[in-house]
Formats: sequence, structure tokens, C-alpha cells
Amino acid sequence: GGSRGIGAEIARRFATLGDRVVIVYKSDAAAAGKIAAELGGDAVCIAVQADITETDDVRAVAAAAVERFGGIDVLVNCAGIGPYRALGQMDAAFVRQILDANVLGPVLMVEAVLPHLRAPGGRIINIASALAFRPIPTSSVYSASKAAVVTLSHAFAKELGPRGVTVNAVAPGVIETDMTTAIIAERGAQIQAMTPLGRIGQPGDIAGIVTFLASPEAGWITGRTIVADGGIT
Ligand code: NAP
Repeated sequence: GGSRGIGAEIARRFATLGDRVVIVYKSDAAAAGKIAAELGGDAVCIAVQADITETDDVRAVAAAAVERFGGIDVLVNCAGIGPYRALGQMDAAFVRQILDANVLGPVLMVEAVLPHLRAPGGRIINIASALAFRPIPTSSVYSASKAAVVTLSHAFAKELGPRGVTVNAVAPGVIETDMTTAIIAERGAQIQAMTPLGRIGQPGDIAGIVTFLASPEAGWITGRTIVADGGIT
């Protein structure tokens, strides 16, 4: 999910710290290529096309990371989708596409990366949502998918702790990206008014939390979810 929005900013932050980055994107090759070039091109960042809901695709991502950079220290599961629908308008395809992208995808990514993840010392950071803790009308399936991400992070932390790998989640409130253009246009003033810090969140408000969780300073934190929503929750 590094080609746009929060994931792109996370990729930038890692690159700024001197890390090498593999960006995964599903469809927007131009956006992914632009970020990879911005971060310094092949020596620093490669962009790999993959649908995270496909086992072969995610295995190919892990293989590309190992081939290009020799191993994997950190996995950030940021790719996700956020459609909302009211009760009365749900169908199986709607529910499945959200659960596939937001729950199955991160699980498959962890499975694919694990054999190559540095241990001890590896890090997995999953992007959940503050809606996991305070869902709003029409967000039910999305919110539930992110509650699953919170619980997966907690459970994976217990499984991977003995290997010295930490697993944590970050749960953002509304962040200004392509995903939230419509919501911010519709209710931006209201969201800002209910936010104690008095503004709409930006991708940079999340990226530093992720690099902190990836750093040695966060080595004693695992299984936790950090809510970052300007104080709404
Ligand atoms: P975004 O701007 O819509 O970007 C989504 C990213 O995920 C893109 O890079 C997209 O790639 C990738 N992606 C989506 N489905 C994929 C799939 N099946 N396989 C591979 N890549 C896939 O989203 P965002 O706002 O940055 O959100 C990032 C994460 O934060 C999501 O998990 C979202 O649920 C979560 N979040 C966002 C907010 C918010 O307010 N924005 C709040 C809380 C949590 P392509 O463009 O190539 O499709």
C-alpha cells in the first residue's frame, strides 16, 4: 500500500531514515513508480505490483524483496480499501471484497514474509483504524475488518514473541488521502470540530508512529494498537 496516501508517506519516512523500501501496489503503477523514483530509484526503493489477496502475488513480493535487498526487517501492512454501505444495501460481494483486502491480505503478507523476516529483531506493523473502536453508521464492515486487524496483531504478537519479532498496529482517525476525499468534502468541518487537536490528520501524522514502532526504541512494545486520531477516541 505504499504507492499512495498513508503508505507512500511511510515509505518516504523509512527512506529518509536510510532504509531500503519495497512498495507494493495493486493497480496504480504510475503512482508507485513516481514514489520509487522520488525515494532514489532502484538502489533505495523498488515498486512491485501485487494483489495482496492472492497467495502467489504476495510470495512474489517477498521473493523480490529478498532478491533485491537480501532480506526483510520490517513488514508494514498498509494496503486496504474503505467502502461504506448502509444496512439494507449489503451483499456478499461487498462484504467479501473488504474482508479479502483488509483481513485476508495482511494475513497472506505475514505468511509470505515470515520465512524471510529477521529474527530476532523483525517488526510487523499493521494499519488498522480508529473506527475499530468507535464505528460510525455505514462503516460497519470496514470497522469490523479493522477490529480484526487489531486482534490479529495482538494474536500474532503472542505467536511471534518467542522469535523476537514484534507485531503492533496503528489505528488512525480520518487522514487526508484519496480514500477520504469524499468524506472530508462532506463532513470535514464536523470532523475538525470534534477533533481536540482541531484539524484533519495528514499521512505524516501516522508515518512517524510506524517508523518508531520499527525502531529499536520500540522493542519492548508488542501486541498493542496505538490510536492516532487527534484525540477523538
Ligand atoms: P489509499 O490512499 O486509498 O491507498 C491505498 C493503497 O493500498 C494504495 O497504494 C493501493 O494500491 C493499495 N491497495 C489497495 N488494495 C490493494 C490490494 N488488494 N493489493 C495491493 N495493494 C492494494 O488509502 P489510505 O487512505 O492511504 O489508507 C491506507 C491504510 O490506512 C488502509 O488500510 C486504510 O484502511 C487505513 N486507514 C486510512 C484512514 C484514512 O482516513 N485515510 C484512516 C484509518 C485507517 P493501488 O493504488 O495500486 O490500488
